[in-house]
Amino acid sequence: MPIYEYVCRGCAHRFEMLVLPQVSPMCPECQGRDLEQQISMFAVSSEGTKAAALKDGRQRSASIRRDKDHAAMEYEKNHEH
Ligand SMILES: [Zn+2]
Repeated sequence: MPIYEYVCRGCAHRFEMLVLPQVSPMCPECQGRDLEQQISMFAVSSEGTKAAALKDGRQRSASIRRDKDHAAMEYEKNHEH
């Protein structure tokens, strides 16, 4: 079920609400219905983007490790004698 984040235009209260069909969301603070829907975290973090982020993170740490190895090699080369 979709959970949306809203900001009330009446009192600037921010809240998350489970949206049911045929029920318009209402601000829990002032009972106002003039709401601005925000982009939900649930909508953004789909399985696809999560997997892509994981993959990206792995690649990044691998390249950092390579840089470290390279630096260690350079260090040894410069301190052999
Ligand atoms: Zn409100």
